Amino acid sequence: MPDIATICRARWVIGADGRVIDDGAVVAADGRIVRVGAWSKIRPHVGPSDTVEEFPAAALLPGLVNAHAHLGLSDMAGKFRPTANFAAWIGRLAVRRYPRTRTAVRRAVARGAAESLAAGTVAGADVTTQPQCDEALGAGAPRWRVFGELLRFGEAGLRHVDETVAALEALRQTTGAAVGLAPHAPYTVGVEVFVRARREADARGWPVSTHLHETQDEIAFIERGEGSLHEWLSRLKFLPPDLKPAGVRPIAMLAEAGFFNGPVLVAHGNYLTDEEIDILAESGSSVVYCPRSHAFFKHANHPWRRLLAAGVNVCLGTDSLASSPSLSILDEARFLASREPDADPKTLLAMATSRGARALGMDDRVGDLREGLAAEFCVVGPLPDTDAPLAAVMAGDPDVTLFET
Ligand SMILES: [Zn+2]
Repeated sequence: MPDIATICRARWVIGADGRVIDDGAVVAADGRIVRVGAWSKIRPHVGPSDTVEEFPAAALLPGLVNAHAHLGLSDMAGKFRPTANFAAWIGRLAVRRYPRTRTAVRRAVARGAAESLAAGTVAGADVTTQPQCDEALGAGAPRWRVFGELLRFGEAGLRHVDETVAALEALRQTTGAAVGLAPHAPYTVGVEVFVRARREADARGWPVSTHLHETQDEIAFIERGEGSLHEWLSRLKFLPPDLKPAGVRPIAMLAEAGFFNGPVLVAHGNYLTDEEIDILAESGSSVVYCPRSHAFFKHANHPWRRLLAAGVNVCLGTDSLASSPSLSILDEARFLASREPDADPKTLLAMATSRGARALGMDDRVGDLREGLAAEFCVVGPLPDTDAPLAAVMAGDPDVTLFET
């Protein structure tokens, strides 16, 4: 034990793999976890200058990880109704989001970050077309990886890569934030832009992310050059006049271009064939399932179990408040538990914590209750006296607070 420690004792201590310690404790010093174990083993080492906090009816869980969010849309809560018409929704969102001032976007980011922290989030991915509005995310918990979102085709798209790389480099240098590149989606970004983004990201050791196989409409756009996304973007004259259908689905098109030569953080992946799942597995990619946003758009069942069975890392995200009621990852896990009652609570917890940390390249700092990781974890309670505390966490509606030292 270090000279001065903070000890958090709780009725249950639950690791990211779902292992439960009854009457357990987590010892923290200098912002790090130094020991996790049964209170009976830790108690003899408690010194006079140590602080002990007790939570007799609560569980300690690892801090939560939100692997896909758009904090800059946190002023959009309640503005949109659930719809199966994704193209109409994204059109209405574009009308609302683009006229906003930078001050308004910064305020939305701050609101989203505060809401995330209050919901027990210790790390996340923020996908934004305005990385310069994310300066305030650089310090402390939650740790956000800021993904600069890319749009457009051809020369304009390639210029957008260069501008975004410069903005992310500046953000990294001034705030120390982790960053990455995120071509928005195959219907708004040319293959040449995906390829350039991959190259620029690889050269800097940054991860890449994209929205992929989110809707059947996206697949129809790429494969056959049709559907309502294609009609909408044609009407706006957003598409290059010489754009041809790829004749294959988006993942095959991007794999052929080399975008899957390394891991990709794939947002959604709602519609996937076994061959496409193989591409994701072989490239070491992660898929972020956003259960409540998924339900908002009335999608067919998400293939998360098939993905896990194939060895793909599946984690959870909220997406934005334009399609999700809150930025709480525990609410996402609970929603999924309510929709699929046979889902193993241990799997859901890993998707909400360690798997998200791995997807963001932050598993050396967060995502579990383990020696050496940041001493930032969730206190969840009150819970009933039970032999299955994790199931109670997923089934009930206990409060979540972040414990930081
Ligand atoms: Zn998104």
